[in-house]
Order: sequence, then structure tokens, then C-alpha cells
Amino acid sequence: MRALWVLNIIAAVLLAAHSQSLHASPSSELVVLDIGHSLSAPGASTPGPVNGRILRECEFWHQYAAVVKKEVQNAGFRCVIINRGNPPTSEPFLSFARRARITYLRHPDIGGARYPSRYFPDRVASGMVSADFAIFNRAACIVFLHHNSSGTRWKSGASPSVILRNKYNGAVLAESLRSTIERDILNNAMPNGGRGCRSEVRSVDAERSAGWLNACDDAGIPAAVVESAFLDNRAHAVFLAGDAGARAYALAVGRGIVRFMRASPSIRRHHRTNPYVPDQGSFGYAAESRRLTVPGARHLIH
Ligand SMILES: [Zn+2]
Repeated sequence: MRALWVLNIIAAVLLAAHSQSLHASPSSELVVLDIGHSLSAPGASTPGPVNGRILRECEFWHQYAAVVKKEVQNAGFRCVIINRGNPPTSEPFLSFARRARITYLRHPDIGGARYPSRYFPDRVASGMVSADFAIFNRAACIVFLHHNSSGTRWKSGASPSVILRNKYNGAVLAESLRSTIERDILNNAMPNGGRGCRSEVRSVDAERSAGWLNACDDAGIPAAVVESAFLDNRAHAVFLAGDAGARAYALAVGRGIVRFMRASPSIRRHHRTNPYVPDQGSFGYAAESRRLTVPGARHLIH
């Protein structure tokens, strides 16, 4: 009898744990932060030295993605930082990677090679392994951390700051990032020659080689790319080259994500209904993809 009583308690505890996993609370939801590019091909950079060094977007986010992560975790959400390059082999990046617990994905995506998604093989893009990581881990959202640059010469902030998003699921995430970054940093702390920074949200898909954003959309995952700061804007670059400015910028990104995550449970997700039927932006629709032969890709159109 006593044994049965103990068994009942164990069963009740197991049942409670199980139902908790079925009805995951927002506090158990996962935010994925993707550091764009790799240390060996680090993306956009300043046209010249700032405070004695060239600022590169991948290196910047290796150092400061941890600030974003901490802000997200402090709000009660899980957060993981990923990168599609090889792990660093030298300081200071070894220390940054260790401190932020950066996960380096198994298949380094260096040099812009295109891959089909494991889950939606008509979606083909570079950066797909990051999308697949978010899909596999059922992320609540994925935010790609970049900086912008429109050339190799210094400019004075004529271009609007940009947040890119996926078409169906990314609207609320991108707007939350845009408005928070604009309010907290672009028009507040970050100088721009006395003018306010304009910022805008743009939806992109496979037509503009962002099939990785489509794959997130197919899986119901909001995705946004932070391109708000211009490394060829000298005022932006000087601000980001200082530790206080860099932290303030990363903190604004973290706050934007937290605002979205708090609203997230009430937002309806769009899922692709049939992965075997072409959808907007599928492989066959993308003009450039017609020229590609990518092993494992499913051609839905031709
Ligand atoms: Zn970039």
C-alpha cells in the first residue's frame, strides 16, 4: 500500500513535469542570437582606423553579443549565441567566446556557399545552418547581429538604418527592435551630425537571396537582421569603437528583443501549410537560384 502511495506521488510529479513541457511558459522560450559572418571573413568594416583600429562587424559582435544575451536572460528568457565560422584560435576572441558561451555550428559557412535547409529543402541560401539551428531548437525568435556599410569611404549618415525581417512572422520582432533602437540609441546617445537617424523595417525573401529568412518563416519563427549602425558613418563608428557606446548599443538591441518576447505568447504564428507546394520565395522563384545546382535542394518549380 505504502509502495503504491509512493508510486502515485512519483506519477503525479512526472505528469506535472510533462504537462509543464507541453505548455512551456514564456520564461522557457529560447532566443537565438546569430553573430553574422566569421572571424576569417568578418563582413563589413570601417573604411579606416577608428581609435587606432579597424572595426569589423563580426569582431564587434563577438565582443558585445554577451551584453544582448545578458539583457534577454535577465528578463527570464533562455538565450544562445551562435556563429557559422570556425572557433577562434587567438585572444581576445578566445576569451569573448568562452565568456559568452558562443556555439560554433558544426558546418562552418565561410565564403557564402549556399545550402538547402534540412527541413525545407526548396529554401537555399548561405546562412541556412543558422536558420536550421533555430528550427531544430524551436526558437521563439532568431536575431542576426550585423552592422551595415554602404561603401569603402566615410559618409555622414545619409542612409536610413535598417532592420530586415522575414515576411510573415518577423513584423512584430522587427518593429520592436526598430523602435527600441531608434528611441534608446539612434536618436538618443548615438551622434549623427546633429540629425536624427531614420530607421526602417524591410521585408526580404529568397528573391533577394534571403532564403534562410523564408525557412524561418516556414517554421513559424520570427527572424530579424539588425543592420542599424553604419560602419562607414564616422559618427556611428567612433561611438561603437568606445566600450561605453558599444555596450549601450548592444543593450538597446537586447531591450528590443525583450519587448518582443513579452508580447510573443499572444502573437499568432504563420506556418507554411505544405512544404511540398511552392510558396512565395521558394527555390524555383528566386532568379539567381535557377542558375544554381545545389546538392540536396528540392526544385519545386522546374
Ligand atoms: Zn553583415
